[in-house]
Parts: sequence; structure tokens; C-alpha cells
Amino acid sequence: MDVTPILENLNDAQRQAVTAPSEPALIIAGAGSGKTRVLVHRAAWLIDVEGVSPQSLLAVTFTNKAAAQMRSRIETLLNVPVQHLWIGTFHGLAHRMLRRHWREAGLPQNFQIIDSDDQLRLIKRLLKGLEVDDSRWVPKEIQWFINGQKDEGLRPKHIDDENEPDRRQLISFYQSYEEICQRGGLVDFAELLLRAHEVLRDNTELLEHYRRRFQHLLVDEFQDTNAIQYAWLRLLAGDKGVPFVVGDDDQSIYRWRGARVEHIHRFQKDFPGTHVVKLEQNYRSTQTILNAANAVISNNGSRMGKNLWTDGTEGEAIKIYSAYNERDEADFVIGRLRDWIAQGHARADAAILYRSNAQSRVLEEGLINARIPYRVYGGLRFFERAEIKDALAYLRLTSNRDDDSSFERIVNKPTRGIGARTVEMMRSYARANACSMWRAAGAIASDDLNGRAANAVNTFMSLVERMARETVGLELHDKVDHVIHLSTLVDFFKKDKGEKGETRIENLAELVSAAKSFEPDPAEEMSPLDEFLSHAALEAGEGQADAWEDCVQLMTMHSAKGLEFPLVFMCGLEDGLFPHQRSVADVNGLEEERRLCYVGITRAMQTLYITHAEQRRLHGMDNFSQPSRFIAEIPNEHVEEIRPRVQVARPMRSAPPVQRRTAIGGAGSEIGIRLGQRVHHKKFGDGVILNCEGQGAHARVEVNFESAGTKWLVLSYANLDLM
Ligand code: ATP
Ligand code: MG
Repeated sequence: MDVTPILENLNDAQRQAVTAPSEPALIIAGAGSGKTRVLVHRAAWLIDVEGVSPQSLLAVTFTNKAAAQMRSRIETLLNVPVQHLWIGTFHGLAHRMLRRHWREAGLPQNFQIIDSDDQLRLIKRLLKGLEVDDSRWVPKEIQWFINGQKDEGLRPKHIDDENEPDRRQLISFYQSYEEICQRGGLVDFAELLLRAHEVLRDNTELLEHYRRRFQHLLVDEFQDTNAIQYAWLRLLAGDKGVPFVVGDDDQSIYRWRGARVEHIHRFQKDFPGTHVVKLEQNYRSTQTILNAANAVISNNGSRMGKNLWTDGTEGEAIKIYSAYNERDEADFVIGRLRDWIAQGHARADAAILYRSNAQSRVLEEGLINARIPYRVYGGLRFFERAEIKDALAYLRLTSNRDDDSSFERIVNKPTRGIGARTVEMMRSYARANACSMWRAAGAIASDDLNGRAANAVNTFMSLVERMARETVGLELHDKVDHVIHLSTLVDFFKKDKGEKGETRIENLAELVSAAKSFEPDPAEEMSPLDEFLSHAALEAGEGQADAWEDCVQLMTMHSAKGLEFPLVFMCGLEDGLFPHQRSVADVNGLEEERRLCYVGITRAMQTLYITHAEQRRLHGMDNFSQPSRFIAEIPNEHVEEIRPRVQVARPMRSAPPVQRRTAIGGAGSEIGIRLGQRVHHKKFGDGVILNCEGQGAHARVEVNFESAGTKWLVLSYANLDLM
């Protein structure tokens, strides 16, 4: 009999990992082999069997969603809620530490987190202020530079300019950026990590406190930690802490954001005597899917080398569909989804994965037309929408007048007669006096501005003061509601006729409900409003995940890491898109893309579809591409082609009229119509055939008419002339 249910449903290797002695451990294992499961069971084991207090555990995962899942799984295993257990992302945990120790960290108590969009605006304003030629200095590149340095743990003073003028200039931008942030109490994502590291490094007592407290450090997705995250972990562990990290070198996909898979090797050096456990049995996918994944990843050099196997079934072949264009691809995916849902499967068990966020739009349109509920993770997320950020900016200002980002965002929104010139005056005053925009506004309103402009500025400032005054003591959601009301944003968006304005107003209402359902953590030592605002900023980096509705999941392959679904579609496997154009030039880049492909394939439990399009319109450009080289890396015996590529016509006039044999039916074949064929319709004029479906009397074609737009027509009535 087992001592505890915690050890049930674990294989020998997993059990060995879960019950390993209190010494550093590295679990290195392929996708779906139970790494996350081992981590959860380890936490439960420590608490339940080893008698370790939940307070002494620190668990780090990659997303907030994964963190929530981990907590609930531990609670299920233990059968009791675990409070005081720190589980979160590196960013979330760093944020928590900084809130507790803002003084030691040199931050104002009400410091605000800015997301990468805010950060970019701030940099743009900085460049403007410095009167820098922004064609020579691209704000995005400066942002990239600053974050890259922070990820490596470097402040401007630490960076060697290598005697290069350009580099010196970048360092100086970094320096100015830092000053603005410090003045406004603004903290970007990379700064969270860097400061959390510094606050421990520079405060011996604090460090001792946390070292005593966190005896066990559990880390999931260890292969994707960057330098500063690793340093933080290393510091926290000291000589006595027990790090327990799990990862997969084949799934390292964030090198471009500073992640270093080398930490896996480094770990074994930094913590001598590390227990290394390998897991190779996979519990997620069919043997066919695993064979495909193994074959693809075997094309990478420098691997630690693992081969996944399962004692489950062979499973069905991987289906590859060659679409004519991105709409044909979407139609295909939706057709298959429909069948799947009709068979009684849950929608949430199906995922559509793509390389680039921009691919989601066409898929979304298809899903909307088909009335299939879906959710996009990592698209334009709720907290990133303009109107939400406007409302949050008002709220932020009520909490911290020196928040320049927020100030600039709403100083003239809704329009209140504060022109660009006035704002420019404030900026120069703020620069000259090293103060915030708020203070600058006050100063120039009383001294420098003419009557009208001064009035406008004063009105704005008293509005913010009034918001702050009238919301004292209100519940969080009433606060949010009242501030939105006073801001008159709703009236402002009402002028925005049509759906867009309406959606914005609905979203503002949704913000109030978000505040209502927000549960402040009693352990946090900040006001519910500040906590809500921080939550909004951190959440903006992720999904609008509300799990209550059963819906199909759409996300990039990056965000799919760690997840699993019975049915997976990988879309857009075309050279140039995936592997991405940028990456094919160098081996490292290509290998990282291949690991991403490995991550994608191994998300699938039973059924995997891979699709690619011959022609794709993306970012307003038409591209003609070859199928991804990764498709060719999957051995033929595991693959079933749904439509042989050679029979798909290219949309060129000179192309011979190749007939299209579709899986859905052969509408075109009956009258010799092909995709890309130019046709003429009496009423609608000239157009091009985009798509066809159905058979016989029901055959329909989709035609893109030059003047009349896209229409579906029943072939037997349409009387199309071939051109
Ligand atoms: P990834 O690398 O994708 O993050 P992972 O190694 O973390 O994968 P898990 O998500 O922990 O893998 O496990 C994959 C699936 O296999 C899960 O559904 C898990 O519950 C199941 N599983 C793992 N180990 C066992 C086991 N011993 N018995 C039954 N099911 C298991
Ligand atoms: Mg996992």
C-alpha cells in the first residue's frame, strides 16, 4: 500500500524525482513526460510527507494561467487549500517582493508597472524631448536594447561602450529612460526582475530572511530562464536552499528574449551533486505524433538527446492539408472543427496554433461566421485595448500624480483644449526641472500659459483631484465606475459611430465588472486599487482567459507551451512564415524555430492537422510560399495528405486549368472551374474564384469581384462566364 495518494499514478522515474532527498535536483525530460506533474507532486509531497511548511516553498511557472493551475492541483492532491504558498511567474513574484520592500528597492510605495506598449511610447517621447532624429534611432530598437541589457542584469554604468559612438548613444538613452522611470515611479517588465535581484543582492538582512524562508525553490520550464532570472534564483538559493528545476532543452523557445538553455549545464556546475533525473515515457500523445516530433527535432545539432515513447496506441496519421490561400485554410480548419464538435467533443479540447498573431484574424472571421465560440490567447488582450488603457490611466493618475505615461495619455482625452504646444511646454519644463509632467503642468499654468490654455490645464488638474477625493473609501469597482463616469470617456466614445464606439463602451463596462470580480490578496500590502492596476499591467502580457465558456482555443505556438489538447491544428506551415523569414539565415535561429515546431507537435494528444497555404495575404502583402521544411522532416509513413499539392492551381493566368479535387466535394471539377480562375458575372462584373464547396445542384463558389466584393454564388444559377 502506498503511504500516500501523492505517489499514485507516477512511474518509477517520476516517483524517484518526487521523493528525491532535499538536495538540488534537475529533471530533464521531453514533452509530455510529466515534468509539470512531477513538480506539482513534489510540492504536495514536501508539504504532506516531509512536513515542510507551505511558507517555505517558492514555485515558479511560465504563465499566470499555469500558476493558477499548479496551485489548484496541489490543493487537490492535499485536499486542503494552501495559503502562504508563493506560486507565480518570475515577473509576478518579483513584483510581489518589490511591493513588500519598495523602500529598500528605492521605489515609491505606489509605483506603477508599465507594459511594453507604454514603454515604447515613453521612449518615443524621450527621443522627441531630446530632439533626436527618429529615422536614425528607431524607438523599437532602443527598447530592445534597454530590455536586453536589463535581462542580462546590466545598468547603464555597467555597460561597456566598446568605444563605439552608436553604442555610447544607446547607453545614454538607457540612462535618460531610467531617470524618467525613477522620477515617475514607473517600472517596466524587465525592471521588475532586475530590481528584485538588486534588492536582495544589496540588502543582506532581506536576503537572509528570504533564504531562511524559502528552503525549496521549484521551477517549471527551466530551459527558458534568462540571465537575470537565473541570477535571482541562484542568489535566493544560496548554499542551503534546495532548487528543484524541471525543463526540456528541446523546448527552449525564448532565446530571442534572453533565455539561455545553457543554464541547464550551468546549474549542474553551480550546484555540485545535483540529482539528475531523465524521463522519457510520454503520457500525452500517440506514438505517431511522438515519432513525428522525434524525427523533426533530431535535425537539430547540440541536443542533450532524448527520445520519447509511449505505451499507448499508434494513433491516427498526421493530416496535412495544402490550402490554396489563407481563407481556404481557415475554411478547412473550421469544417474539421465542426465535425469534431458534432461528434460531441468539448470545444475547449481543440486548439488552433499559429506562428504569428496576425494569422488569427482570418481564422477568427471564419469562426465567427460559423458561430463557433473561441478565445484568442495573446491577441489584443482586454487590458491592452485603447479604451481600457485610457480608463486605467485616469485611475493611475488618481493614485500617482507623477505617472507621466498616464498623464500624457489622457491629458487631452477626451479633448479639452490642451494642445500639442501646451504639452510640449510641459515637457520642456519637466525636463529642465527634473520633475513630473503633473508638477510642470501646475507650474506653467500659473506662470506661462495664456488664459484659455491655463484654464484648460487647471480644469484637467482639478478633475483628477476630484476623482481622487470623491473615490476615497469607495469599494474598488465603485471607484472604477466613478472615475470612468467623471472622465466622460463614455460620451467621448459615443461620438465614435458604429460598432467600434459601442464595443469600446461595452469594454469600459466590462472593466467595472472586472474590478468587481477582482479579489485582492489579503497578503499584499498595497491598496486594492494599486493591486488591481498592477494586475491589469501584468495580465496585459497574457490572455483574457476566462475559462467559463467552452470555446476553441487560439494561440501562438509560443503561448501553447506546457499545454495539451486532444485536437490540434498547426496552421501556416510555410517557409518564411514558419520557420520565420528572420530566422532561416542562421543555424541558431533555425534551430529555435524547429524547437518551436517540436513544441507545437507535442501539444497534440490524439489528432494533429498541419496546414499550409500556397498563397497568403499577411500584413497586406501577398506571399507565395513553399511548404515548411519542417513538414518534409516528418517521415511519410506518419502522414496522410488530404489534398495532394500538385493538384492545386496557382492563381496565375498562364497556369493550366488544373482541377481541384477537394475533400469537401468537387464543385469545380464538374464544369472545369479552378481556383484563381477569372470569371464574369452579368450583375457583379469581373472577379476571381477563391473557393468552392458542395456538389451537383448545391455546388457553390466564392468569387472576389473587382467592384462588388466577395460573394458566394450557387454555380447552377450564377451563369458565370469563364475568362
Ligand atoms: P511539457 O513539456 O509539454 O510541459 P510535461 O513534461 O510537463 O510536458 P505534463 O504536462 O506534466 O508533461 O504531463 C503530460 C500529460 O501526461 C498530462 O496529462 C499528465 O497528467 C499525464 N501524465 C504524466 N505522467 C503520468 C503518469 N505517470 N500516469 C498517467 N498520466 C500521466
Ligand atoms: Mg510542463
